[in-house]
Order: sequence, then C-alpha cells, then structure tokens
Amino acid sequence: MLARVSTCAVEGLDGYIVSAEVDISPGLPSFSIVGLPDTAVQEARERVRAAIRNSGCEFPMRRITVNLAPADTRKAGPSYDLPIAMGILISSGQVSGSPDSALFNSTKLAPPTAARDRSGSVGDSGAQSEDGGSCIRCGREIDLDPDRPLCRGCYQVWSQYSNSDFEERCCLVCGDERRGITYAKPLCYPCYSRN
Ligand SMILES: [Zn+2]
Ligand SMILES: [Zn+2]
Repeated sequence: MLARVSTCAVEGLDGYIVSAEVDISPGLPSFSIVGLPDTAVQEARERVRAAIRNSGCEFPMRRITVNLAPADTRKAGPSYDLPIAMGILISSGQVSGSPDSALFNSTKLAPPTAARDRSGSVGDSGAQSEDGGSCIRCGREIDLDPDRPLCRGCYQVWSQYSNSDFEERCCLVCGDERRGITYAKPLCYPCYSRN
C-alpha cells in the first residue's frame, strides 16, 4: 500500500512542499530512500527504524521504498524522519490515516532514549510480541528471538541431538526458505546484515 505524507522544506527564502511517498511491498526486507537524499537523509533509515521499534510499533520486514518528491531537488538534513516514519506506519496499517494525508511539521525523531524511559505504557508491553519470527524448521510463527529460533515442538526434536549446525529450512526473520540456515545462524544473509 502506498502512503503519501507531506512536509515542507526551505530553499533560500522559499518554502516548498515535499512529499514522502512510502510503498511497502512483499519481498526481501529492504529500506531504500530515493529522490536525491543527502547523507543525513539516508541516515533517517536507522533513526526511523529505531524510533518505530521503540515506540512499540512493528518495523515491517518487507520491501520499503520511500520517494521524496519532487525527485529533482536535493533533500538535506534530518527533517524528513517524521514524515517517513508516519508514511511507514500508515502504509503498514498501524496508524489510521488517509493514504494521501496530512501536512506534518518537519521534525527530527529524537534518539530512542525518550521512548525507553517510558514505563507502563501500552506500547512497551506490545513491543516484543508484535515482532514475530518464523520457526526455522517448520515456519510456524514464533517470537523473534535469535537464541530460540525453533517452535516448542521442533525444539524438542532438535534438543535430542542439539546439532547447532544441522541445516534447517527457513530464515527466522523473513521466513523465506534459504540454504545455510542453522540453529547457530538462524538468519539469512540479507536479514543478518540488516540486524
Ligand atoms: Zn517448528
Ligand atoms: Zn531472512
């Protein structure tokens, strides 16, 4: 689903509208920002990922493409974090909003410490369980914990041999069938390099 969130930018003394168009589609997990982003905008990927997770929401393990339109003007600085994050939350159905919505003030997302300090809020308790993974042997949905990559039943079978290098079937994170997945290394390479 596509979400479009508008923000503003200044060039010299003029202000203009910039739209963060976020598309989430099936496929290997990836997160790319296009539309002439500078290094600070590219780093929004790390800030947005951390902020979404630490807010108790789920960062979609799918193919995320963000286009900052108009595509022919350079985008600088960290001010696109919020519209990108909102676009991801709207596009993944975690926040209701029209897919083509709202004008957000350009705001940088604070480091995740602010979210970590909260206690007892709804988001905190939900954060862990919403991050689902797949049993690397049978593919059943389990908690995303690299130290426990098997469901209960498969773990019982595995523990009879406890062979950490036995080749299993699918990646703990994306659930795709992959070669070289083992109890010791439960993530496929793309997921491993992103975590
Ligand atoms: Zn299993
Ligand atoms: Zn994977």
